[in-house]
Amino acid sequence: MVPYLFYCCYLIRSLHPDHQNKVYVGSTPDPIKRLRQHNGDLTQGAYKTSKRRPWEMILFVYGFPTKQSALQFEWAWQHPMRSRHTKRQAIHSVTCNNTLGMRSAAQSNLYLTKLRALHDLLCTQPFARWSLKLRFMDPGDLGLFLAEAGPPPPGRALPSQLCVSHGPALDLLPVIQRSKRTEDTFVKWVENLPASCHVCHDAIERKDLDRFVCCPDCTMIAHLTCLATLFLNDTPFALIPIEHPCPGCARRLVWGDLIYDLRLRLHHHTKT
Ligand SMILES: [Zn+2]
Ligand SMILES: [Zn+2]
Repeated sequence: MVPYLFYCCYLIRSLHPDHQNKVYVGSTPDPIKRLRQHNGDLTQGAYKTSKRRPWEMILFVYGFPTKQSALQFEWAWQHPMRSRHTKRQAIHSVTCNNTLGMRSAAQSNLYLTKLRALHDLLCTQPFARWSLKLRFMDPGDLGLFLAEAGPPPPGRALPSQLCVSHGPALDLLPVIQRSKRTEDTFVKWVENLPASCHVCHDAIERKDLDRFVCCPDCTMIAHLTCLATLFLNDTPFALIPIEHPCPGCARRLVWGDLIYDLRLRLHHHTKT
């Protein structure tokens, strides 16, 4: 089984005049193809949503450490009142009369409910530690997401390593098909990097594929443990590295992305 390819959770909204603001949360390795299935352009699946066609893609969340973790996120997003991750916030929002739309399914504006539930989830452990990325198709929806989330109470701000962007889903096609690009270029790229660790200057054995990571923007290559130690130096109480400027080019590196590349390299190595 492919261990680590693109997998996202997505939010679509019905454009059917009788079902405006009705939304659906799902997960898929290909959000572009999946939307076409929901809209009946392609066969297979999406039976549950067929009565509310057409659908538009609002956003998707990607960068999950595993497919299982994406499914865990999907379930929590679908059931914000039941998920152990967001239950506490949902109860809080009911009692403080902040009309989060979670009081009952019938009352709620489901579109806003899902945006707010997403915000809650992104601030909640373990999701808040992951290097997740949020892609809105329309800047208006992104603006609404940020506005509806409102000024966060202390400790509930969106995680700093979260990347938020907007634009057509098609622009992300290279990311969605990342493994194919990796096969061609990334392996060759790694072969041409310096032979020693940027941090400790000891040699890096190329055959120990699971022992080193490299920056996508410069020639920095380092032992996994050396770079983890560097990341953690700034945050003495953290146990898991999250983000840090690259010691080579100073661009921001997100730990989850480095591990993603490492696992793709491993996957292609075992395949060839
Ligand atoms: Zn080293
Ligand atoms: Zn760099």
